[in-house]
Amino acid sequence: MRLVRLLMIAACIVTAAPAVAADWTSLETDHFLLIGDASGRDIRDVALRFEQFRAAVTEAFPVLADDRPGPPVVVIVFRDQRSYEPYKPRFNGKSVRVGGYFIGGNDVNYITLAADTRGSDFQTVYHEYTHLLMRRLPANLSAWVHEGLAEYFSTFDASGSTARFGRPLVDHVGLLRERQMPLLELFAVNHDSATYNEGNRRTLFYAQSWLLTHYAFIENPERWKQLVQFESLMHNGQPPASAFEQALGVAPAVLEQELQNYVRRHAMQYQVVALDQRVATRIQGQPAPMSEAEAHAWLGDLLGHAGRTEEATVLLERALKASPELPLAHAAMGTLLLRQDKSNEAMTYLEKATSANSPNEFVHFYFGVALVRRVANRTASDGELKKGIASLERAVELRSGFAEAEKMLGYGYLLANEPEKGRDTLRRALDGDPGDDNVILMLAEAELRLGQFAEARRRLGPVVGRAADARVKERARELLARSVGVEQQQQVRAEVAPSAADLPPISSPARPTDSTVQPVFREREPGETRTYGLFTEIECTPQQVVLHVRAAGQTLLLRAPRFDAIDFISYRTTTPGTISCGARRPAEDVYVTWRRDPAPSSQQGIAVAVELLPDGFVPAP
Ligand SMILES: [Zn+2]
Repeated sequence: MRLVRLLMIAACIVTAAPAVAADWTSLETDHFLLIGDASGRDIRDVALRFEQFRAAVTEAFPVLADDRPGPPVVVIVFRDQRSYEPYKPRFNGKSVRVGGYFIGGNDVNYITLAADTRGSDFQTVYHEYTHLLMRRLPANLSAWVHEGLAEYFSTFDASGSTARFGRPLVDHVGLLRERQMPLLELFAVNHDSATYNEGNRRTLFYAQSWLLTHYAFIENPERWKQLVQFESLMHNGQPPASAFEQALGVAPAVLEQELQNYVRRHAMQYQVVALDQRVATRIQGQPAPMSEAEAHAWLGDLLGHAGRTEEATVLLERALKASPELPLAHAAMGTLLLRQDKSNEAMTYLEKATSANSPNEFVHFYFGVALVRRVANRTASDGELKKGIASLERAVELRSGFAEAEKMLGYGYLLANEPEKGRDTLRRALDGDPGDDNVILMLAEAELRLGQFAEARRRLGPVVGRAADARVKERARELLARSVGVEQQQQVRAEVAPSAADLPPISSPARPTDSTVQPVFREREPGETRTYGLFTEIECTPQQVVLHVRAAGQTLLLRAPRFDAIDFISYRTTTPGTISCGARRPAEDVYVTWRRDPAPSSQQGIAVAVELLPDGFVPAP
């Protein structure tokens, strides 16, 4: 046995890619695509297990029951450990002993296992799949909720017509009887914190999250309700300690004591849910045969997602050699190249996959994404933007509710300066993935361009409050400030000529580094005021000139003895017309600097400087 394995590993090194046995089949169920070289019966058994898991979790926690389509979950069922070996995760060049594993992605999720995988080996896979289901939950739940529920549901166990959750996790119980993590510390952990990524603390964090979930979810549902409220208070910006006090009405120490007692009990409750028997009858068909090239393409894509680029390339090349038109292989090769930043080479494969009018929405998605990204990076033409948008539209057509495609499509519309389409598409994307702050930022931007300031601010406020990502927070703050400036500018314009209230363009979305050029303005001297406004007229008399500047609901009348007593500065790329008496057509955006008029007169001030603002400039609020 050992010899066989050694020989096999040696063979892998020579060919740089694992061999694929014949006899691959595929089976599509309501929520999974199963492929593998296991027997038809084994593949159906695995399909049933996953469909039952999904049904049981959504029965136990109905918020997760959401049948809108998401990225496919592809389950690869290997016939036995030998067949599985080459595709197991690697560490230092050696395969890691696992019963099954999960690779999540925006485009596709892979679960792999062998037909002889049993019992607790499924735990990891269930844990990760629970995370996938939880992506449908509202934005920014704390890390402990995610990990607590994933651990809790990972103990799924089905027999006959019932399923059970809640088996005590022995390792967690042992550790927690020794020590626990203070709750305020637990609540502060997020996916970036050191605790989350550091061996021992991490283990305690998982254990503590699991215990709190177990306790509140089955033993003390009142506490669960309170914790849900606590979460929402916290994400509206309330500090954890006071949110806890308000939602639970006790100090954290009280709940900590409850948990201490709970983990010392001799028995814990299970949650029993009835299994929907229809699930079994829906998985009846025979798995359909699959060509060797297709199997190679899937496995190549799997390894590509696992970051094993060389082996993936060999498999995909093999697939393309055997079946040069196979869209799946072109798509997988294209995306593999994209991940290596070889976007030019990738385009050939992606275009090929798209032009085959593949029914696989991902082919269109990837091509569209690549094109839109190139436009965003200014390496592509407007024609390519059109093509990219068309591809993404096709992806969304093939799978309605494809949130990732809608996000990119919305971004594409913004780049193409079609804010209305952008807004509608991004709204749909946000329905599908309410937790994505980047989508909220883009949507707010579309709304700003459409003059929907209140909507935009309603979205941005909470992002500023809760975003964990500093760049997202900054961008939200920037857009909020902009919204105030743009609105002010628009109001001023509307007062002068209601029909000419066109909005200035806003810089491209989602690129926080890309700020509009900021002119260096004239420095103000003591006693000077600078006001943003629309420069509408110069009134000339033999004694003086009077500037009319419309600003925030009033017209400033600013005098000067002569033109050359005023500093005229232009930041515009096109030279403005001459400065002469009469109405300014069109009226111009300006900063006017002025000082109070010491002499009693009908005018409000003395004009010092007029700065003509560049197109698209948004005044600071
Ligand atoms: Zn997890």
